[in-house]
Amino acid sequence: MSPADCHPLAILVIEDNAGDARLIREMLRDAAGPPCRVESVSRLAAGLQRLAEGPVDAVLLDLSLPDSQGLETFSRLQAREPHIPVVVLSGLDDETVAVRAVQEGAQDYLVKGRVDAHLLRRSLRYAVERQRMAEERAELERQKDEFLGSVSHDLRTPLAAIKASIGVVLAHEPPGMAAGLHRMLANIDLAADQMARLVDDLLELTRLKAGRVRLRVAECDLRALAEQAARAIEPLAEERSQSLELLLPAEPVLAAADAERVERALLNLLGNAQKYGRTGGTIRLSLHSSDGEVIFSVADDGPGIPEPEQGRIFDRFYRAETEATRKTQGSGLGLPIARALVELHGGRIWVESRSGAGATFKIALPAVASATPG
Ligand code: ADP
Repeated sequence: MSPADCHPLAILVIEDNAGDARLIREMLRDAAGPPCRVESVSRLAAGLQRLAEGPVDAVLLDLSLPDSQGLETFSRLQAREPHIPVVVLSGLDDETVAVRAVQEGAQDYLVKGRVDAHLLRRSLRYAVERQRMAEERAELERQKDEFLGSVSHDLRTPLAAIKASIGVVLAHEPPGMAAGLHRMLANIDLAADQMARLVDDLLELTRLKAGRVRLRVAECDLRALAEQAARAIEPLAEERSQSLELLLPAEPVLAAADAERVERALLNLLGNAQKYGRTGGTIRLSLHSSDGEVIFSVADDGPGIPEPEQGRIFDRFYRAETEATRKTQGSGLGLPIARALVELHGGRIWVESRSGAGATFKIALPAVASATPG
């Protein structure tokens, strides 16, 4: 038995049919278990007014009321009281609307005339319990983000110290130092760079998730931005004998965007194409306009991404279950960062891929960016 089972539940019934409201009251009174305190009102406005005066444990909501009808009844209640668990009451003929309400966040629905005391009480208990668990989860998630944010922030200072010190040591390397020792120093330097990138990514993603990133929007040329991103990835591509093919418009493509953030998103895609693409293969970067959008496309001829994994690779820390992923180092942060940055611009990002046939990632930005300067 959970703690919620031990105290009487305060239930607000919003139902305009006096007979139905009475029936509910009787059922809740008669059902076995701890008592329920039931209040009822017959209009949505009166229900909202009652909730503004103080909380209840759950709301039983008829969707057809004199002052509100259908799904809107639930949406209006949810907009005003997002944390109160709601069980929707529907007639036999509007069950599909009730299902829609559940998809939008109602905890459950009951069909009038098909409810008994036991079912009603159980549905309300479950609703309260589920809502409580969802809020606990949200709080844990928030604490996790805060922890990740502060750890990554605190790691930056010691990392910067390691990086600076190793730089000094490398600059003053005594003549004749053993090659093995030199290699180790160079390894420390590389590892510090890798760690710094990881820490930066973690910090950026926690900030993005918490809504703390403000775009610096200005007019910029996306064609130049694509060229710059391609140049940045070139040395890495050369290491794996990959060729870079650019398909860019002849004219500049002007847009209002945060150039640094768009470039970062694009670099994450190019970086993946370089990492997961075929050795000796080709990475194609293109840019074109279509239907009021500007679309970047990054295509590789690597192993691609199996269909079932495609929906998950934009999730935080997720790495696909593929051979190519197992052979490559990564943190699962690149795509979620790219997605958050693109969406902050009012854009979209997606992948088109078939297992074994390469992957094409696309970023579509509104041609006239809807982002607000920050
Ligand atoms: P990671 O650091 O693991 O590369 P990302 O968030 O950038 O993290 O990508 C998530 C996962 O998506 C990768 O681990 C990989 O499984 C898959 N993936 C991303 N890009 C490609 C690509 N071009 N080809 C094949 N798989 C890819």
